[in-house]
Amino acid sequence: MASYAFDIGVLGGGSAGLTVAAGSAQLGAKTLLIDKDGRLGGDCLHCGCVPSKTLIRTAHVYHLMKRATYFGLPDVEVKPIEFSNVSCRIKSVISKIQKHDSVERFCGLGVKVEFGEPAFIDEHSVRLNGQTYSAKNWVIATGSSPVIPQVKGLDKTPYLTNREIFYLDRLPASLIIFGGGPIGIEMAQAFCRLGSKVAVIQRSGQILPKEDKDMAVQVMDVLKTEGVSFYLDTSIVSAQDLGSEREVVIRTGDGTTVTLKAETILVATGRKPNIEGLGLDKIGVAVDDKGVKVDARMRTSQRHIYAAGDVNGGYLFTHAAGYEGGIVVSNAIFHLPRKADYTFLPWCTYTDPELASIGMNETAARKAGIEYSLWTEEFRENDRSIAEGEETGKIKMILNEKEMPIGVQIFGPRAGEVVGEWVAALNGGVKLSRLLSAVHPYPTIGEINKKVAANFFSQKIFSDRVKKGLKFFFNLRGRACKA
Ligand SMILES: Cc1cc2nc3c(=O)[nH]c(=O)nc-3n(C[C@H](O)[C@H](O)[C@H](O)COP(=O)(O)OP(=O)(O)OC[C@H]3O[C@@H](n4cnc5c(N)ncnc54)[C@H](O)[C@@H]3O)c2cc1C
Repeated sequence: MASYAFDIGVLGGGSAGLTVAAGSAQLGAKTLLIDKDGRLGGDCLHCGCVPSKTLIRTAHVYHLMKRATYFGLPDVEVKPIEFSNVSCRIKSVISKIQKHDSVERFCGLGVKVEFGEPAFIDEHSVRLNGQTYSAKNWVIATGSSPVIPQVKGLDKTPYLTNREIFYLDRLPASLIIFGGGPIGIEMAQAFCRLGSKVAVIQRSGQILPKEDKDMAVQVMDVLKTEGVSFYLDTSIVSAQDLGSEREVVIRTGDGTTVTLKAETILVATGRKPNIEGLGLDKIGVAVDDKGVKVDARMRTSQRHIYAAGDVNGGYLFTHAAGYEGGIVVSNAIFHLPRKADYTFLPWCTYTDPELASIGMNETAARKAGIEYSLWTEEFRENDRSIAEGEETGKIKMILNEKEMPIGVQIFGPRAGEVVGEWVAALNGGVKLSRLLSAVHPYPTIGEINKKVAANFFSQKIFSDRVKKGLKFFFNLRGRACKA
């Protein structure tokens, strides 16, 4: 039997790679972890989830300060922000979390960490910094990078991506965002709240295209009210550097050409897999436009090489990357043939209010030909929402023909937390009647989950048939007030 220096080698020290490395080493596998960045943590920690959520929190507090009188407080003189202070806070949050993702911690778990740019030289070995490392199994977990669209003049025009946007010296007076996906929309609201004039250009007719249109429209309406401009169904014709500002020419859906000017451009038009230079073509690992092709067990076309996280082009979330990392550990180390199941994978866009989703939305149910029924409840009916002055939004619950919940979307305060109950209920096969009969604390935002379930049951419980039955058996005498 061939002998290899390591049981498992992991390329990429982000959410997926760190999950695999920590799990494998703790199970006793001799584990190698290689990252090209000179630090661990990946995009999520350094230029994704962590800095964006930190920035969003700062923007939220600033927004609340400006609304002080709404809460019965004295009017506050709100000074313009110093972005360098915001950046400073972002860096300090990252450095706190970096401890979980440090070389010392991983070395403590038994992982050998190396930095540099590895390339496969055969199916079991990579070359790195002049040395060869062999492993029985490999995992490609190299993440993704921003796609830069082919726009005339953009290559000669300065622009920002998620790599730079959190580390600016000062707040841009104005910002044109290419792309109305989750990253573009979160940044649009945050920068608008901090004081930038923001315009979002979206190619399709809807922002957040993976969401149901009615929910996406509600998000857009909130951002519009706060001052963000939107150009939907719009293509970007050209970009140009004018020195102190950038010019962007767009063509809107009705064919009108519009010229926009702003201090800065943020490109957020999607992601592409980081596979360049890995030598995958030489070792027969198949890739397509989305990324490294994998089966449900995360195996590539070379069965001993796995690909997890953004690089396989599936669900581009940190929790999906971690989940897939766990699938790799089960298959490669435990030798248990575990498959990924994304049926109830939740996600959230962290606008304010947040938009969270799990399972099928209406668009997906229609596409799948499912006869569904829709149940909703508005946050303006939720006592806690009213008390907190956060009444915008609603919950949508989708039931299949058997009246089983198959999906929930929540646009409302702390939706990312509120969806947690559905994560447990849907993954655990909990019946709707059980969710309804469980006592929820009052007053909470999360009561909306129980309320939407109650809306479904109340049409059955309070039906004319039930009333007639009770009247017949127990002689109930009907309405006391005829008004
Ligand atoms: C602005 C922004 C906000 C986001 N917010 C959220 C959020 O709120 N919630 C959420 O779930 N997701 C969010 N995401 C997505 C999330 O960041 C990614 O899904 C997640 O980081 C993917 O993890 P990963 O391990 O696949 O890749 P990464 O975390 O990117 O890790 C890949 C690692 O591989 C290394 N690498 C790259 N190329 C090579 C190479 N050739 N050799 C060796 N190493 C290499 C990189 O240096 C990096 O350390 C956000 C993304 C962005 C950009």
